[in-house]
Amino acid sequence: MNNVIVSCASCNKKNRIPADKQYLKPKCGHCKAPISMTNQGIPVELGDQDFHDFVKQAPLPVMVDFFSPTCGPCQTMLPIVSTMARENVYKFIIAKVDTSKNQQIASFFNIRGVPSFMFFRNGRLIDQITGAVPKNVLEQKLRSL
Ligand SMILES: [Zn+2]
Repeated sequence: MNNVIVSCASCNKKNRIPADKQYLKPKCGHCKAPISMTNQGIPVELGDQDFHDFVKQAPLPVMVDFFSPTCGPCQTMLPIVSTMARENVYKFIIAKVDTSKNQQIASFFNIRGVPSFMFFRNGRLIDQITGAVPKNVLEQKLRSL
């Protein structure tokens, strides 16, 4: 699991927070003060091993960006996806899967083209979009969940 480094607003010490815990009201490891993740969220990097468990237990609607590092449109979308993760940390979960490293999950969902965006709620696949699209299209989809 990837991590995000966040400074505690109370004691200023840096905390390393696993990306899958950033939605769960993390506390500072030094002073126990709650850590605000507002505008500090990052995409959760999921793979073959943890994808299903994570999506099943997710407490918020989830958008997953299936991308490949060698695809141009994917490179265009990755910064947009990161911005969405930063801006929506308590509203939605933004995740990404590198399909070049996680082929089991890509074939499970029959991913034929990247980028592919999948939208889950309560562990169920609700909708999907294939291809690069504007940020507001993705946000509208998330809101409609
Ligand atoms: Zn602290």
